[in-house]
Amino acid sequence: MDSTPYAPGFKTSPWWWEAAEPSRRDATLPDQAEVAIVGGGYAGLSAALTLARLGRKPVVLDAERIGWGASSRNGGMVSGGLKVAKGANAGDVVAAAAASLPFIEELIARERIDCDYVRCGRFTGAWTPAHYQAQARRVEAMAQATGMAAEMLPPARQREAIGSDFYHGGMKLAATGSLHPGKYARGLAAAAEAAGVRLVDSVRVQGIRKQGSGFRLATDRGELAADAVLVATNGYSLDPRGTAMPWLARRMVPLASMIIATEEIDPALMDRLFPGRRMLGESRRVLNYFRPSPCGRHVLWGGRASFGHATPEQAAPVLYQRMTEVFPELKGTRITHCWLGNVAFTFDHLPHIGVQDGIHYAAGCQGSGVAMASWLGHQVGMKIAGAANQPFALDGLPFPTMPFYSGNPWFMPVVGNWYRLLDAWERARA
Ligand SMILES: Cc1cc2nc3c(=O)[nH]c(=O)nc-3n(C[C@H](O)[C@H](O)[C@H](O)COP(=O)(O)OP(=O)(O)OC[C@H]3O[C@@H](n4cnc5c(N)ncnc54)[C@H](O)[C@@H]3O)c2cc1C
Repeated sequence: MDSTPYAPGFKTSPWWWEAAEPSRRDATLPDQAEVAIVGGGYAGLSAALTLARLGRKPVVLDAERIGWGASSRNGGMVSGGLKVAKGANAGDVVAAAAASLPFIEELIARERIDCDYVRCGRFTGAWTPAHYQAQARRVEAMAQATGMAAEMLPPARQREAIGSDFYHGGMKLAATGSLHPGKYARGLAAAAEAAGVRLVDSVRVQGIRKQGSGFRLATDRGELAADAVLVATNGYSLDPRGTAMPWLARRMVPLASMIIATEEIDPALMDRLFPGRRMLGESRRVLNYFRPSPCGRHVLWGGRASFGHATPEQAAPVLYQRMTEVFPELKGTRITHCWLGNVAFTFDHLPHIGVQDGIHYAAGCQGSGVAMASWLGHQVGMKIAGAANQPFALDGLPFPTMPFYSGNPWFMPVVGNWYRLLDAWERARA
């Protein structure tokens, strides 16, 4: 039986929406746009802002509300790291990804976006002693590639970073920030709008075809002509109600990530659990990520409660159990919210921008897209405006898919459960 304690009025919408729920706009759909941007998340909005600053007139279209997707549902952890980068230009790819952190910091400061941004650092708990050793090797490689300062905390010192003995030590990284994702999405949308971007919600793009030197977008509210198009639909790329760019959907592996929020917690307990108020995560494959809320009074705990279809009601007890395993002191603390959102993985584990059949795309942030999606959007914006004067290492890379894959990751429950088994096996041996 589910013994998770729920607070009265428990909600299945994001906790972030209490302060910054994406609002509905009643904008009419124009017949024509210089640049049509499909998807009103960080990637689409950032591209639109850059284009507007360069004198272009973009229109952002979202099937739901502007900022409704992962961009107002995420954990708000801001980092520029990439876990995997292989091949001849791996160093350039890592450096291009790392540049997303200074970019977003500068963007938030320049546009004066009120989103509780703090450069707070991060601690990643080692699931096993072998993971600790692997982290220690990564720290050196990372420092060399990006100059990002990191320090290993052995088990005897891990309570400097987390109020738990659950891990085998871990890695403390300075170059990580935190923000309120809902406020950031809202602020980015406001900055774009103030710069002249037109934001249109409740319009689903159902197909894009070439017409002369431009494009025609079919939507559920009529057609729209555009000189250039960017598709930034990420983890929501495939939809039975209409898919903007099937080619992109075939390259995305969408996965739901889930978060719970707790009721207010005693400040002394928060100080004990989150010394230094860092962002926290762990090194196992099916990982959890957790943090104090920006106000410091609630715990937000995220993870993958299921690799198939799960409702927030099904996810909440799984996440609660994991949270109280790491923080037994939270047993009995009630939860107020549990919600889901889609992240997008790619088959090569890299984010991508590029052009296919004349259509620009920016997607695939591997669940770490607060800084990265904003950065990719900016890069595409520069490119569309003809203002990109340096090569960008994530642009135009080969973008793999799988035979017969249309964008529905039917294989993920199998792969996910296999990862879970590997995690359990490694921990049992440790
Ligand atoms: C629960 C969760 C936790 C996360 N935690 C973190 C974190 O702590 N740190 C981090 O860096 N990243 C995190 N992420 C990932 C991060 O949120 C995403 O990488 C990022 O928000 C992606 O932005 P985006 O603009 O590419 O996509 P989204 O914000 O998902 O926007 C895509 C938009 O496209 C729209 N759309 C889709 N199809 C159509 C269509 N046909 N027509 C019109 N519009 C369409 C959707 O309605 C949606 O609004 C998390 C994600 C989730 C879900």
